[in-house]
Order: sequence, then C-alpha cells, then structure tokens
Amino acid sequence: MILKLIVFAAVALFVYKLFGGQLPSIGKKSPVRQDKKSDSDTLVECSKCGTYVSVEEATLIHGKYYCDECA
Ligand SMILES: [Zn+2]
Repeated sequence: MILKLIVFAAVALFVYKLFGGQLPSIGKKSPVRQDKKSDSDTLVECSKCGTYVSVEEATLIHGKYYCDECA
C-alpha cells in the first residue's frame, strides 16, 4: 500500500519534472495572464478615501493603492 503510494509519487514527480514549465498548469498560467491583462482595466479602491480608480491612475504606495488626491 505504502510502496504503491511512493511509486505513484515518484512517477508523478518524474512527469512533473519532465514537463517542467512547458506543461500549462491551470493554477500557474491563468493568474499571471489575468494580472497582466487586468492591469489597465481593473478598478482598485483607494485605501484612504475609498474611491475606485483604475490601476493605471492609482498610485501604489507600500502595497496599497491611493487615488490621485490622496497620493
Ligand atoms: Zn483617495
């Protein structure tokens, strides 16, 4: 039982390494694409006044977004 599990894990690891970054994994690829795509379109909330501004217009300070007036 345990041996089977180890063999399975080894095979899985081997396959994973074999394909490396070429294998389009759902969890890996889509967030990166969405981040790049949504950079200009996404609205973010100003951490100070709560106004929603686009990411391009917002100012990022210490990981938080601020609108033009608050920045
Ligand atoms: Zn603001």
